[in-house]
Amino acid sequence: MELTITDLSSGDDPLLTPVQYLSGVGPARAAILAKLEIFTVGDLLWHLPRDVLDLSQVKKVTELVEGAMQSVRGVVCDLDARMTSSGKHMTTTLLDCEGQYVRASWFNQPWMFRKLQMEQLLLMAGKPKKRDGRWEFSHPQLQWLSDEDRESGFGVLPRYPLTEGIQQAEMRRLTALAVDEFAELVPEHHYPKALEKWKIVDIGQALRGLHKPSTVDEYLAGRRRLLWDDLFEFQVGLALRRRAWISHSQAPPIEITAKVDARIRRLFPFSLTEGQEQAIRDVTADLATGHAMHRLIQADVGAGKTVIAIYALLAAVAGGWQGALMTPTELLATQHWDTLQSVLAQSRVKRALLTGRIGAKDQREVHAGLQSGDIQLVVGTQAIIQEKVKFANLGLVVIDEQHKFGVAQRATFSEQEGHSPHILVMTATPIPRSLCLTQFGDLDLTLVKDLPPGRQRVVTSRVIGPGNRKRCWDFIRQKLSEGRQLYIVSPRVDGGTEEGEQQGVEQIYRELPQTELTGFKVGMVHGQMDGQLRAETMAQFREGEIQALVATTVIEVGVDVPNATLMVILDAERFGLSQLHQLRGRIARGKYQGYCFLISDSDTAESVTRLHAMEQTSDGFQIAEVDFEMRGPGDALGTRQSGSLPLRIADLIRDHDLLVETRAAAQSLLKTEAIDRPEFAPLKLKVLDRFGQLMDLQRGG
Ligand code: ADP
Ligand code: MG
Repeated sequence: MELTITDLSSGDDPLLTPVQYLSGVGPARAAILAKLEIFTVGDLLWHLPRDVLDLSQVKKVTELVEGAMQSVRGVVCDLDARMTSSGKHMTTTLLDCEGQYVRASWFNQPWMFRKLQMEQLLLMAGKPKKRDGRWEFSHPQLQWLSDEDRESGFGVLPRYPLTEGIQQAEMRRLTALAVDEFAELVPEHHYPKALEKWKIVDIGQALRGLHKPSTVDEYLAGRRRLLWDDLFEFQVGLALRRRAWISHSQAPPIEITAKVDARIRRLFPFSLTEGQEQAIRDVTADLATGHAMHRLIQADVGAGKTVIAIYALLAAVAGGWQGALMTPTELLATQHWDTLQSVLAQSRVKRALLTGRIGAKDQREVHAGLQSGDIQLVVGTQAIIQEKVKFANLGLVVIDEQHKFGVAQRATFSEQEGHSPHILVMTATPIPRSLCLTQFGDLDLTLVKDLPPGRQRVVTSRVIGPGNRKRCWDFIRQKLSEGRQLYIVSPRVDGGTEEGEQQGVEQIYRELPQTELTGFKVGMVHGQMDGQLRAETMAQFREGEIQALVATTVIEVGVDVPNATLMVILDAERFGLSQLHQLRGRIARGKYQGYCFLISDSDTAESVTRLHAMEQTSDGFQIAEVDFEMRGPGDALGTRQSGSLPLRIADLIRDHDLLVETRAAAQSLLKTEAIDRPEFAPLKLKVLDRFGQLMDLQRGG
């Protein structure tokens, strides 16, 4: 055997040597390192540089040549941002490089202006051009240098996260020492052929490249290796989980006959879009296999996901199984219930609504009906997956608008007495590609890209200043008089107490009938009010008894009132892009043109960019990508959950390409069943150690 894998059971692991034993590290320095969570030599080796400073290519201004990649080092001595005559935003700066000046400019990157400051020391890399006798860099890459770097020698220098009491130079010395004495002792858990195949360097070489690079390429190769491990292990975990589902989880095989198909289709007064047809084909195929379906349907707001859900649920019922439709809010549960009631008006399917709001006695009745199998179809909030709710023969769970259900949360409801139900997740929040490959990497994916015919793009405009605001309300009153309805969305329930702070929903609700909406009926819904009252208000709005509804984002998901075609979003800059898109989706449903007004007095570059994107595009997928790039993974889903992605160093935006690459590698490893061969045993062990619990993976599975 040619395996170079150190026996993991050996007791005295040299990497556990306390840092104090490194030369030049006494107790005082060890205490400082401890603040960075560095206790052992191994910790020190894994204290990775956040980037690297390439001073090997720094040129004097007089040495620059046209068109080649080069860097200069200098101090910001002039800074300017303006709009060009063609309407582009332009940031320019002048860099003083030891008395010689170079210019740099960026178009349509308003945030660059905020990132730069006078007197800053910068390293700038790009391909310069000479214009009017002066060197110019267009869209150069930047690195911010500290005073310390002013003095540093040349070469390729890693830069570490530090803490008080230790400086870059010292950290570099220590990591270099650790590399020299210990890097070769770090066990390699990939076998040589795999390294070659995946184009990654071995672990010793990687650590050397990260901490003691002689070229930037060496550093990058080191980073690639560690990022590879981070992402690859996660993807192998997801792939193992999929396999476990497919091989172990017996699910009811549900065949949909032509007769059943026709009977379900007759319930809808329209023919289905191609996207809906495709989704139904995918779902039908999954249901028939005898293994549990785990599918994610991504479709923009208004694409008609409810139809797909109803189709799948009725197919399960027709096959003799129970179906459950789960929603994140009562509001949405009630609405789906109403839809079902009208679709199934002539049907004998036994159905029930189960939310926290219905009385205890009714709840018990529903529980009993589900347990005996009397109830075939249940709609509800998460109340339907509580432990005390038992199903006689649950065959399918449809989870609507639950994009916040990540890998970990979904693991919670897998097993149902001997078999697993089919699971269909639906979301209108377009999920950025990279997030989809991680949070939902274990699901099959159906993308629905088309909308039902006749939909009109919502006209969206930013409203700035009192004059525009007046015109906006004039327009709205006109449309209300014509019979349309309006949502007014505010980011908060309570207003601020300080002068100048935003108004809350309550206050707006009190004031509007006296001001802009004199003579119109105004209602209010928000998450903190009594559920009964909220449902009544929604019903009144749906019936048209209320013309304007003041709301928080409780109306964000799923609410469907086709006659409501107007929306005013207050303090619009406080919402994320995807959230704005969701909100706007509420008014793109009927036969009338929708209008959305984004009221915002904020003129920060970020909010201008964001609201501008809303005006420009109505493609949810495109908006999701922009949002993701601006705000990172946590916020793209409308909730801070950065901690919930169990990655160590990878960054989904920056490392997207590697994510795709590791995913393909992981899938091929499972497809060829190579993962079960002895040479991959150490890898499998690592994956189980890291993700076994999170992903509910069985050892040996
Ligand atoms: P979402 O995908 O946002 O959940 P819904 O299921 O609420 O969308 O559907 C939005 C609206 O479009 C509903 O009023 C629904 O009746 C209508 N609809 C759905 N599918 C079609 C179709 N194929 N043709 C016409 N209208 C449709
Ligand atoms: Mg919906």
